[in-house]
This record gives sequence, structure tokens and C-alpha cells, in this order.
Amino acid sequence: LANHSDMLEQTEKSSTELSQVLASVKVAKEFRLAIANDQLLLEYQPLVSLDNRKILGIEALMRWQHPVHGRMAPDSFIPMAEDTGLIVDATWWVFEHALAALRRIQDQTGNREIFVSVNVSAQDFNDPAMLDRLLLILEKHELEARHLHLEITERLLLRQSDQVRGLLNRCRQSGMSIAIDDFGTGYSALSYLHTYPVSTLKIDKSFVGQMLDDKQALGLVRSILSLGDNMSLNVFAEGVETEEQAKTLQSLDCKIAQGFYFARPMPENQLLTTIMEQH
Ligand code: C2E
Ligand code: MG
Ligand code: MG
Ligand code: MG
Repeated sequence: LANHSDMLEQTEKSSTELSQVLASVKVAKEFRLAIANDQLLLEYQPLVSLDNRKILGIEALMRWQHPVHGRMAPDSFIPMAEDTGLIVDATWWVFEHALAALRRIQDQTGNREIFVSVNVSAQDFNDPAMLDRLLLILEKHELEARHLHLEITERLLLRQSDQVRGLLNRCRQSGMSIAIDDFGTGYSALSYLHTYPVSTLKIDKSFVGQMLDDKQALGLVRSILSLGDNMSLNVFAEGVETEEQAKTLQSLDCKIAQGFYFARPMPENQLLTTIMEQH
């Protein structure tokens, strides 16, 4: 009898696993269709100057408008998109739409300096033609490469791949900025910082969120800012939720920040209104 119930458990377990596999195949299939059928959408979150609180740039953040499950946050599907390689097509979708939007935003606000930041994944660097294709999109929208920031993770740099290094160097040489997202949460082998063409460190929101209650977190924020200073890198802060956090970052000489306190991610039309209102 014991054996029997063991066997039953075994069967149940493998059928759960099977249904999980089937579910993830289904999700991947749906995501592939979502890219083709414009079920993806972008929201834009402002990056502001801490000195005058004006919007200097925006980060493009992907959402999936699923026909059954509704609006899905990126953390719920980006890992699947990366595992299946579908992220590559999704990233091109983002580049196309974010740069077209940036063109409209620059035109309608008369601000030609505003930049857009796009999150890129490791797989996006497998294509040697990536930069040329990107330059064509910029050209199509009459944007300069300096209007585009690429946000990458420390994990990508730790791969020490010549392909990634070569592409990043060429992106940087062509004028794009390279930002390390969620800085401080990775494996932090700091030696990569001077062998890659990094322009910006984005302090992870977890440190910003804790820095007023936790001396260690504040110490980390300070250290990242002085590291940036010593290496001539820009340092941006993400996850600013209170005026006190904004003031503290400003007093530490951080220049640019992003967070719900200033603005949440929002659709293009709302962003336009927000930018127009600040002048
Ligand atoms: P991220 O690149 O670090 O983006 C910042 C995330 O922090 C966004 O979450 C944003 O809504 C959130 N955030 C901003 N300010 C605050 C704040 O003050 N408090 C709190 N609690 N959160 C704040 P979101 O939009 O859910 O995106 C999550 C992550 O998904 C992103 O983190 C990024 O890693 C990834 N992601 C988003 N869009 C894309 C994309 O187009 N491509 C790729 N590869 N990844 C993306
Ligand atoms: Mg980011
Ligand atoms: Mg981040
Ligand atoms: Mg991130």
C-alpha cells in the first residue's frame, strides 16, 4: 500500500511537471504572438535632475497586455523571454517604439536633449549586426546616438565575452551611453568597470529604499557615488520614493534620479503633458 501511494505521488508529481512545461510552452507561444500583434506596450518613467527636478530623460519599460490575464509586469515574463530567446525580437520591438516615441516627444516639447534608456539582455548581443541595425533606427528618426542609453546588468559583463566587449565598445564609440542597471546587486567584481566602456552606474532601488534607516545601505550609496566620481562615471539613483531620499542623494552630490516620488512609469501622452507642465 505504501508503495502504491508512493507511485501515485510519483505520477502526480510528473504530471504537475508536465503541465508546467506545457504551460510555459503556451506562454512562450503567446508571447511570440504578442510581439507580432502589438500586445506589448511601453511606459516611460522620467529621470530627473536632482538640482531643478526637470526631466532629462526617460526609461522605456515593457508591459504585456495579455488578452486573458490583463496587464503583465515585466518581471513576470522577461525571464521566460530570455530563456526562450524571444527577448531578442522583443528588444527590437522596444527599440523601434521607444525611439519613435522619443522623436515625437522631442518634437512636441521642443526639448532636443531628452534621452531614452532601454533595457537590453545578454542575448541581444549575440547579433554582430546589432549596432548597425540600431544606427539605422536612430537615423530613421533623425536621432543622435547620444540620445540612446543602453541599460545592461553586471551579469552580462561578468561573462567576459569578446563579442559583448566588441559590440559595447562600438556602441559607446558611436555615442551611446552604457549604464549598469541595479548596480551593487550583482557579483560586483569591480575590475570589469575599467575594462568595459561604461558611462553610468544606476544605484539599485533597494539601497535607495533602505538608506535612511540602514547605515550599511547609506554607506553603499556613498561608496557607489564616490566610485563614480573617482572613475568619471555618471551615477543615477533609482527608486526614489520620498523628498527626504531625494534631498539625501542631492547632498551626496548625486545629479540624476528616478522614482515614484518624481513620477511613475506612464504612457506617452501622459508623459508629454508632464513634460509640458514643467516649463
Ligand atoms: P529596471 O530596469 O531596474 O527598472 C526599474 C523598475 O523599478 C521598474 O519596474 C520601475 O517601475 C520600478 N521603479 C521605479 N521607481 C520606483 C520606485 O520609486 N519604487 C519602486 N518600488 N519601484 C520603482 P518594472 O517596470 O516593473 O520593470 C522591472 C524590470 O523589468 C526592470 O527593472 C528591467 O530589469 C525589466 N524590464 C523592463 N522593461 C524591459 C525591457 O524592455 N527589456 C528588458 N530586457 N527588461 C525590461
Ligand atoms: Mg533599467
Ligand atoms: Mg533597476
Ligand atoms: Mg533591472
